[in-house]
This record gives sequence, C-alpha cells and structure tokens, in this order.
Amino acid sequence: MNLLLLEDDDFVASDRVRLSGRRLKHMLEIHQAEVGDLLRVGRLGGLMGQAEVLSLSPDSTELQVQLDQPPPAKLPLTLLLAMPRPKMLRRILQHCASLGVAELILLNSYRVEKSFWQTPFLQPEQIRHNLLLGLEQARDTVLPQVRIEKRFKPFVEDQLPALLSDKQGLLAHPGPYPACPRAVTQPLLLAIGPEGGWIPYEVDKLCQAGLQPVQLGERILRVETAVTALIGRLF
Ligand code: SAM
Repeated sequence: MNLLLLEDDDFVASDRVRLSGRRLKHMLEIHQAEVGDLLRVGRLGGLMGQAEVLSLSPDSTELQVQLDQPPPAKLPLTLLLAMPRPKMLRRILQHCASLGVAELILLNSYRVEKSFWQTPFLQPEQIRHNLLLGLEQARDTVLPQVRIEKRFKPFVEDQLPALLSDKQGLLAHPGPYPACPRAVTQPLLLAIGPEGGWIPYEVDKLCQAGLQPVQLGERILRVETAVTALIGRLF
C-alpha cells in the first residue's frame, strides 16, 4: 500500500479522518506508524496529499489530512477482456487499476467456462476491493469503470461500434497479423481473449465491428501476462 485511500465516511471533519480495520492494521504492521508520522494519502475520487498521525491505538487512528495534488492521468484505454478465471480476475483487476486503465469491460466468449460467471469475485464489493488494492499500489484515487457483458453477439453488434466511434480498436490475437503498435497516444479499445483464445467466429465479428488484429510475437502469453505486456507496449 503506497497510498492510504480515504473514503467519504472516514472524514470526521473537513481535514480529519478516523480509520480502523485493514488500513489501520497496515499502518501499524507495515508502516509501523507512530503519532506525528506523515503518511501519503488520497481521497477516493479526489486529490492526494499528506496526513499527520494525531492519535493511534490498536482500534483506531486519527489523521490530519492536507490534500492538494491531483491523481495521475488515466490511460486513454478501454480494455475489453474475455472473462478470465476467477483467481486471475482478482489480479487483473488490481493490475488494471495500477496501470491506469480507464474502463474495463468483462465479456463472455465461447471459450469462457460458464462457471467463471458464478465467482464471488464478480460481486460489486469484491470488484471494488481489488480495484482499491491496485489504486493503493500505484498511488491513484480514481476507480476504473467496470462493466459486465455476458452476451457476446448483442454486445459486439449493438454496442461495440458506438464505443469505437472515438477510439481506435485493436484485437490482440496470436497469428500472422501486424505487430502491436507502441507509444500510442490516441484513445484505444483493446480486446484480449480467454485462456483458450478467441474462436474464428468471434475474431470475424470483432473485426467487422471495427477492431484490427495485432500480435505480440510468437510467444503465447497467459491472459494476465498479455494484459500487462500489451498495455506496457501500447503506452
Ligand atoms: N491458444 C490461444 C490462441 O492462440 O489464441 C491462446 C490464448 S492466450 C492464452 C489469451 C489471450 O492473450 C489471447 O486471446 C490474446 O488476446 C492474448 N495473447 C497472448 N499471447 C499473444 C500474442 N503473442 N499475440 C497477441 N495476443 C496474445
């Protein structure tokens, strides 16, 4: 945790917060914080700055906060991701928040196991928890938007073209395609497939909607690795 994220409910005055639970535990065990220490903090959805520890007990702490710095800019990226297996989903949510992905769309695909959609990690509070971990890691305060689209064809036919009206669309797919571009600055939508890959029908539909297939070389990367490798290369 490189940033202590503060939520509206933590504020007991305009410049003072009271914390308990996970964040207090982290302060005590990892930072080994003491009264008078200065910590880096940010208000969820708002500014970042510093906080001075005013009081500290095993149950709660009070901090005086001064927030005056904007969070880092998001990447101009919408990630369209075939629903990954649950354990990977947790980590990908954290990576997306850390890397600055603005929007994540979790999409069904033929090779997504149906059971993946039953995972508790898709519950809104679990999605939020994992995004918060990623923001705390990277020092950001703004949650990425997350959408769940369980019907491939209606999404791709009815919604994807509109999403692409102001963005370039790329489809990550191993094969004889152009190399994935580097150092992109314009808004982008990037589609990444499931563990078993996109099926040819899906590749056709995504390309008809306006995505261009690109590849990252002959090594086939796991979804989680592909997410970070592609984002790192693109931006
Ligand atoms: N056998 C599958 C295939 O050939 O598509 C492998 C799927 S890979 C484990 C999961 C996803 O990561 C792919 O659908 C693609 O979006 C992305 N990916 C992994 N390696 C890639 C590469 N070398 N080039 C482009 N995309 C890649």
